[in-house]
Amino acid sequence: MSNVKKTIITKKQAEEIKKTYPTPFHIYDEKGIEDNAKELISSFSWCKGFKEHFAVKATPNPTIMKILHNLGCGMDCSSLTELMLCEKIGITGDDIMFTANETPAEEYAYALKLGATITLDDLTHVDFIADVAKKNGTTLPECMSLRFNNGKNFAVNNQIMGTPQDAKYGMTREQLAEAIRKLKGYGVKRFGLHAFLASNNLGNDYYPTLAGILFETAKELAEETGADFKFVNLSGGVGIPYRPEDDKPNIPIIAAKVKAEYERIFDGDMKPSLRTELGRYMLGPYGNLITTVLHFKHIYKEYAGVDACAANLMRPAMYGAYHHITVLGKENEPANVKYDVVGGLCENNDKFAVDRMLPALEVGDILAIHDSGAHGFAMGYNYNGRLRSAELLLKKDGSVCMIRRAETPDDYFATMVF
Ligand SMILES: *Cc1c(COP(=O)(O)O)cnc(C)c1O
Repeated sequence: MSNVKKTIITKKQAEEIKKTYPTPFHIYDEKGIEDNAKELISSFSWCKGFKEHFAVKATPNPTIMKILHNLGCGMDCSSLTELMLCEKIGITGDDIMFTANETPAEEYAYALKLGATITLDDLTHVDFIADVAKKNGTTLPECMSLRFNNGKNFAVNNQIMGTPQDAKYGMTREQLAEAIRKLKGYGVKRFGLHAFLASNNLGNDYYPTLAGILFETAKELAEETGADFKFVNLSGGVGIPYRPEDDKPNIPIIAAKVKAEYERIFDGDMKPSLRTELGRYMLGPYGNLITTVLHFKHIYKEYAGVDACAANLMRPAMYGAYHHITVLGKENEPANVKYDVVGGLCENNDKFAVDRMLPALEVGDILAIHDSGAHGFAMGYNYNGRLRSAELLLKKDGSVCMIRRAETPDDYFATMVF
C-alpha cells in the first residue's frame, strides 16, 4: 500500500513565506501536532495518571513545548540545558522526567532542585546521586525511576539504537533489585520502571511487548523487594511512516493492547500509572524542511543541489535514513527522473536522497523534505560554517509565525576568541 505524503504548505504558501524567511527553513504544523497528541492522550485515558513526557531532544523549541504542555504533556529532559529550557517556560516538578546517561553531578543537582522525576541509568548512580543530594543539603526525592536493559533482542527495528545487549543504556535485572534496596536505604518510597529498547518501531506491537516485559518485571520486583511502583515508563520508540509505503502506527490499537497486558499482569492491588516519552511520534510528521534547488550537475550521476544540507537535517547522512521529498507544485507530475539530492557540505554523505525518482526539476523549484519535525533541526550543527535555519509554525488559523530565528554570522562568531 502507498500513502500520499502531504506537505505542510503548498507551493503558493512557500513562495509567500520565502519573501520574509528565505529557505532553508523548518516549518511545523500546529493542528497536526495537537490532533496527534490529543489522540494519544485519549487513547491512554483508561490509565489513571497517564502522562506523555515529550522527549525535548527531538524538537527543543519553547513554542512547540508549550503547545504540548497546554494539552497536558510533561517533558523528558536529558541534559542541563534541556532542564533549564523547561524552567524558562515554567515547566518544573513532576512535569519533568530527567532521563540522562553519563550524567554529571551538576545536572543531577539541577534536576533535584527543579523537583524533576529522575531515571537512573545505572546502579552506580544510586550512591552518586545520593552524594549529590547530600552535598546540596537535601535528600533524594520520594520517587525515583530506574532504567532497565533486558539484554534481549526485539524482533523490531534496531538500526538506530543497536541491539539491547550492545546498547549502553540501562541496568540488568539483578541490578534493578539492588538499586531499589539501596534507594530504600536512602529513604526513597516509590519507584518508576523505564526501558527504551528499540527506536522508530512501526507496527503496533512494540509498546505492548515492552509493556508486557516491564509490567512483569515491576510485579516481580514489587514481590521481591516490597517496592511500591508509582509508574511504568514505556519511553519513546513508536515510529512514524517515513516512506509512503509505511503505515502510521495505530495508537488506539497500541493503547488497547497495552491495556490488555496491564489487566493480564496487574490482576491484584498493584496499579501503577503509565508514562511515555515519545519524541519522534509526537513531532516527526508535523515538520517539513523547505529548501530551494540551486544547481544541477551531471557527471556519473545526476545531482540536484539544494540550499539545505546535512547541518539542517542529519538523519540521511547519519543513518542513511529515508526522508520523502515532494516537489512543491509538481505533486501530480510523473516522477521519471533519477536524482541524488545533495547539500553543500564538504562531506560526500551530505545527500538527502540517493537515486530518488522525482519529477524533472528546475532551478528555483521548492522541495519539501518530509518528517523533519523530530530529530531534524535538533541535530543541527555548524560544520563548514553552516548556520542553523529558522523554525516557523503554521498556526491553526493558517497564519505563519517564526518560532526561532535563523542564525547569523554573529552567532557563529559569538564563541570564538579573536
Ligand atoms: C530519545 C529518547 C526518547 C524519544 O525517543 P523517540 O524515538 O523520539 O520516541 C525518549 N526517552 C529517552 C530516554 C530518549 O533518549
